[in-house]
Amino acid sequence: MQDLKHFINGKYVNGASGRFGDVFNPATGEVISRAPMASVAETEAAVADAAAAQPQWGAMNPQKRARVMMAMVGLMNRDMEKLAEALSREHGKTLPDARGDLQRGLEVVEFCIGAPHLLKGEFTDSAGPGIDIYSMKQPLGVVASIMPFNFPAMMPLWHVGPALACGNAVVLKPSERDPSVPLMLAELFVEAGLPKGVFQVLNGDKEAVDTLLDSDIIQGVSFVGSTPIAQYIYSRATASGKRAQCFGGAKNHMIVMPDADMDQAADALVGAGYGAAGERCMAISVAVPVGDETADRLIAALVPRIEKLKVGPYTAGEDMDFGPVVTAAAKQRILGLIQSGVDQGAKLVVDNRDFSLQGYENGFFVGPHLFDNVTPDMDIYTQEIFGPVLSTVRAGSYEEAIGLAMDHEYGNGTAIFTRDGDTARDFASRINIGMVGVNVPIPVPLAYHTFGGWKKSMFGDLNQHGPDSFKFYTRTKTVTSRWPSGMKEGGEFHFKAMD
Ligand code: NAD
Repeated sequence: MQDLKHFINGKYVNGASGRFGDVFNPATGEVISRAPMASVAETEAAVADAAAAQPQWGAMNPQKRARVMMAMVGLMNRDMEKLAEALSREHGKTLPDARGDLQRGLEVVEFCIGAPHLLKGEFTDSAGPGIDIYSMKQPLGVVASIMPFNFPAMMPLWHVGPALACGNAVVLKPSERDPSVPLMLAELFVEAGLPKGVFQVLNGDKEAVDTLLDSDIIQGVSFVGSTPIAQYIYSRATASGKRAQCFGGAKNHMIVMPDADMDQAADALVGAGYGAAGERCMAISVAVPVGDETADRLIAALVPRIEKLKVGPYTAGEDMDFGPVVTAAAKQRILGLIQSGVDQGAKLVVDNRDFSLQGYENGFFVGPHLFDNVTPDMDIYTQEIFGPVLSTVRAGSYEEAIGLAMDHEYGNGTAIFTRDGDTARDFASRINIGMVGVNVPIPVPLAYHTFGGWKKSMFGDLNQHGPDSFKFYTRTKTVTSRWPSGMKEGGEFHFKAMD
């Protein structure tokens, strides 16, 4: 078993706290390594070193910073298979999914190559005689990123890419569950030309997080994870005057109208509900067919598709549909929620509660489950399950269906499947949810748009990646300047003219 390290000031360093967290291979249930849990002192030192490294990086010509991003793209492509293997080993997702995780992160690094354009300020010529006004977008300084387990490459890159491209230094705390890929990415950034200390990866738990939140040096905090922690991080970070964006959990509804192409809708639901074992914040976890006839057709189309799903370790081949969930505790929680659904009266149409995989009995596998006749008061409806469980809530009308999604406390993503443009347009316009798909089940916007939910799925103002990320990681300074030629013509008078 290996002891993982931190990545500080351009190199791997041992943890000094004496505390460690176990990292598992979820497919076998074995402990494969231990991640050091940073102490207050280690965290403060990593932040102080980042603060020392930042000014030179922040003052650098943005084109040169963009070249680091360009080199990073090449290096990630070079090491794609190595990164994907490390990712699957700790997370459990299939290799194609791991490549997708890396690819969606890489696309944000590509977007960041455009930083010089995105960082251009505004200019007003001759706001008064000899007077010009211009604005600059300057880095915040040192920022912190606190990351979830479910996308160990994509989530860090969505934050580190724009933060660095804007000239900040970043202290990133990966999830305790799968810290290896963020460490490897930090090493690659240094190979790409990033100065040492500008990107620190510090493993840890609440002790490190709270130290980051209370630090006087940290100017901005980006968090992605579950809603209770997002809410906690947002209030603690903003209480000390920091800028914060905290992305939380989800319960994404897909409405299936009677006129939908049922094969297309069922294929979409199976991919969006069960892919990555349902451990995606954009997974569809609730299907809402409109009308009993639509519901019956949908269930009939779903069941054979779900029964064909292949569940297994990433090493079993690229045709696996999904792997294990991340920990034994996650598995127990999911099975507990499935039992609560049965106890509370939902109909378990596909039941894999006794699922077991020969040779992997200690792995954290959960088979696919499908519920019908779910009602909004049930725990399987109110809570984010984050597992391979799809709940069907039958709606009597379109209004009832849209009302369900609107009334749910989460507002990350949603989708509607229909052939009717009018209904789709009405849905997109009225729904109080941040990301909407029309005949698209997981509407994750591309890197040059922004990603973020509403309601309890997001705390803060600015979204992830796209133009919002460049706003989040910079602050605006506006300069009003007067030069003598305007003064010569009678400064006082002309100042009045400007008003
Ligand atoms: P989590 O909230 O358990 O952990 C996220 C991070 O917070 C980790 O780095 C963890 O160490 C830290 N943390 C946990 N408890 C803490 C505490 N008490 N104090 C300080 N820090 C603490 O989330 P997770 O299980 O790693 O990730 C899954 C969740 O993330 C799901 O709810 C999913 O929907 C959500 N998610 C949301 C988005 C989005 O963009 N909205 C994207 C990906 C994942």
